[in-house]
Formats: sequence, structure tokens, C-alpha cells
Amino acid sequence: MQATIGACKLELVIGDITRQAADAIVNAANSRLAGGGGVDGAIHRGGGPSIMEETRRHYPQGCPTGDAVATGAGKLPARCVIHAVGPIWKGGQNQEESLLASAYWRSLEVASAQPCASIAFPSLSTGAYAYPLQQAARIALHTVATYLRLHGQPQLVRFVLFDERAYEAYADALTPILSENHCR
Ligand code: ADP
Repeated sequence: MQATIGACKLELVIGDITRQAADAIVNAANSRLAGGGGVDGAIHRGGGPSIMEETRRHYPQGCPTGDAVATGAGKLPARCVIHAVGPIWKGGQNQEESLLASAYWRSLEVASAQPCASIAFPSLSTGAYAYPLQQAARIALHTVATYLRLHGQPQLVRFVLFDERAYEAYADALTPILSENHCR
């Protein structure tokens, strides 16, 4: 599924984030940047040790929830990895929504500063961090659409969803967000 926001493209695909040859891929990191399972494990396995060496050297304090930092991508086909820290779902009354939006927004700001023409996101916080998928999809797409409308870059934002269920949730969330943003 694909949409246009100004001169930018927003795509939804089913796939593996580590296989994306985008300028930047986004890691679903934890705040210690310590590595983990899910997306994080796959990125460090595929990219090799240089990514962790770089996070240890440049970000020894880790990265706060809602923020993002960049490293190289080691052996992965992407040019860089943006490590974004989404919130752990604790019932919805603990700033989860604003922290999730911030993790996407900061990733886009970090990508713009590189600069990156293309960026691929996984569905942040919806695995081990247990954020309800439908709500997370709405926040993710609303945040990205607002950023693209405001900044006109990156040229391509691709959501790489791991399975049919995640893809359907994002596809369902996309249509109302596009009309809210006055774009196709
Ligand atoms: P978090 O800790 O932020 O919840 P996870 O990595 O546990 O992050 O999961 C985030 C989402 O990414 C989940 O929906 C999971 O199914 C999905 N996922 C796991 N591995 C990959 C991968 N290699 N590529 C894309 N998405 C993935």
C-alpha cells in the first residue's frame, strides 16, 4: 500500500527490516541501547559487532525513551541505523502515546540531519513492549504524515511490518490519516 504526501511517499510493506536497502533503518531499541530480541536482535545479528561498538562509544548513557540516535549499519544493506526507544505499554496512563509519537518524530529529525532520503521503520513498541497494535499504528502513521507535511522530507518512508496482522492494522489506520492530512 502506498500514499503520497506532498512530494513524499509513504509505503506499507510486509517484510524484514534488516533486508531494507534504505538510507536509514530504524531499530526498536531499549533505553540502555543494550541489544535485545525482536528487531534489535535481528539488526545486531545482521549488522555485526560494529553497531554495538559504536553505540557504546558514542552513547554510553544510552538513549531516553521517546528519543533516537544514529550509528552506522555494519554489514546491513542500509547506510545507517537509527536507534529509537519507544515506550513500554503500562496501561496507557503513563505518557505512552506522546512517547511513542516522539520516538517516531525524533527518528525523522535524526534522519533529516544525516541527511537520509529514505527511511524504513518497524512497528515500534508493539512486540516485547506490548503497545496495542491498532493504537500504535494510528500514532505512528499520524506522526509520520504530520512530519512529512511539515518538512517535505525524507522522500520515502516505508513501514516494514513483520506479519499480515501488523500490515492490516497499519493499512486500516492509513486511510483516515490521509484524509485528515488532506493528501492522497
Ligand atoms: P519493541 O520492544 O519496541 O516492542 P520488538 O522488536 O519486540 O520491539 O517488536 C516490534 C515489532 O517489530 C513487532 O511487531 C515485531 O513483530 C516486529 N519485528 C520483529 N522482528 C522484525 C524484523 N526483523 N523486521 C520487521 N519487524 C520485526
